[in-house]
Amino acid sequence: MTVTLTTSGPLPPEKGAEHTYDVTVIGAGVVGAAIARELSRYQLRTALIDAADDIGNGTSKANTAILHTGFDAVPGSLEARLVREGRDLLADYAADTGIPVERVGALLVAWDEDQLAALPLLRDKAVRNGYHASRIIDADELRAREPHLGPGALGALDVPDESIICPWTTPLAFATQAVRAGVHLHLNCRLRDVRSDAGGHTLTTSRGPLRTRYLVNAAGLYADEIDRLLGHDVFTVTPRRGQLIVFDKLARDLVGHILLPVPGPAGKGVLIAPTVFGNVLLGPTAEELDDKTATGSTAEGLHLLREKGRRIVPGLLDEEVTAVYAGLRAATGQEDYRIQEYPALRYVAVGGIRSTGLTASMAIGRHVMELLAATGLDHGEPHPLPPLTMPGLGDASPRPYLSARLIAGDPAYGTLVCHCEQVTLGEIRDALASTIPPNSLDGLRRRTRARGGRCQGFYCGAAVRALFEEARP
Ligand SMILES: Cc1cc2nc3c(=O)[nH]c(=O)nc-3n(C[C@H](O)[C@H](O)[C@H](O)COP(=O)(O)OP(=O)(O)OC[C@H]3O[C@@H](n4cnc5c(N)ncnc54)[C@H](O)[C@@H]3O)c2cc1C
Repeated sequence: MTVTLTTSGPLPPEKGAEHTYDVTVIGAGVVGAAIARELSRYQLRTALIDAADDIGNGTSKANTAILHTGFDAVPGSLEARLVREGRDLLADYAADTGIPVERVGALLVAWDEDQLAALPLLRDKAVRNGYHASRIIDADELRAREPHLGPGALGALDVPDESIICPWTTPLAFATQAVRAGVHLHLNCRLRDVRSDAGGHTLTTSRGPLRTRYLVNAAGLYADEIDRLLGHDVFTVTPRRGQLIVFDKLARDLVGHILLPVPGPAGKGVLIAPTVFGNVLLGPTAEELDDKTATGSTAEGLHLLREKGRRIVPGLLDEEVTAVYAGLRAATGQEDYRIQEYPALRYVAVGGIRSTGLTASMAIGRHVMELLAATGLDHGEPHPLPPLTMPGLGDASPRPYLSARLIAGDPAYGTLVCHCEQVTLGEIRDALASTIPPNSLDGLRRRTRARGGRCQGFYCGAAVRALFEEARP
């Protein structure tokens, strides 16, 4: 296995057929990584490039991490189809590769008569979306299943297949498999301009020129700007910020399910959800912004979340906060994705992947593969990808520090470095030597959970940094 992963220096030279990629994917978020993984099944020279120093470093690292059923999507939309298909694909893939998933189920809680009256409509919508397992439960059953719910809940729609998933392992798994199967990954590589001709595209990047026959634009918040470089003016991305609060693991017993509000005119609203790491999330807000870099949290946003959260599970607000974060949804003013192929240009735009892209990622990958074929890409026969096993970061996964067998084989798996998250020396060492190693302490945290617990690195920070620095070339 030859892995091509570059983070600096010039890209392969522009001239010569052997240096022309067949397909280049711009953006290594969960969507671009899923597309690259799909492409890696074929005998193609594929490049995946990202402006950041890691995969999954944009919106993909900051979401609510729910593997949706798609029960509430707009029936008949492309998003509805790809979420439904993507959910099944990702659930199976997660089971095969060890990506943490827990099928905790969701309860859409009605807090007034209007919301109660809306539940049958939501159940019907779920059926139109091909989801038949939801049912309405009364206030007594709701309270029995969620005893810490605030007063006044009148009933709920039970959606038993909504699940929680690890948002960081997912794009890492896709990219790892793609790179092992021959995709070239170029990080710290920002696309600045595109010149298209009959044979393809010459990309101007921050690391020099790159030549490709076909181009896929999966640049998330910046997909509109890249689409304009290709001569289109079809959609504009307006970042919609979602701020979230992460509560300490001691809060985990307060919440059994994903607690969703009944959606109203202002959108999907604020939810409370467990995470696969054993924390509880409260959020997200929905703020229309014009700054694509505004991923900070605000006092007003956090105040609003606390107010909403107090009504849903009052006891949650007494618990310690571990962290706050915010992500930006790539909204485009249309309640659907903006995926479009341009055969004459040998180009596919993958825009507007707003609030369901984690769930739909694998189905988007397949869809884009079909569009590339329709655009003229002759990809030949697919070959099976070698199996992959990802580290089990979830609390429900077998953690190395609990495995007598692993520790007997290598005591590093019994040596805790991050005590809050029980991360061992062995896991940190493995992440630093992995196919796509981290280029920052945050990247290491997303691969191991080290520094992600209640002390946020106060105790283990120096030790983790020393291991990180030691491993750097
Ligand atoms: C608050 C919030 C909650 C969410 N909750 C969920 C959820 O529970 N379930 C779910 O399924 N989805 C959820 N989502 C949606 C999901 O996170 C996104 O749909 C998904 O992450 C989009 O992935 P992406 O790859 O399209 O974009 P990104 O992850 O943003 O990736 C785009 C990449 O393109 C790169 N890039 C941009 N411009 C350039 C350039 N010029 N050159 C090179 N690289 C470039 C960026 O660096 C970035 O890495 C949520 C989103 C938010 C914000």
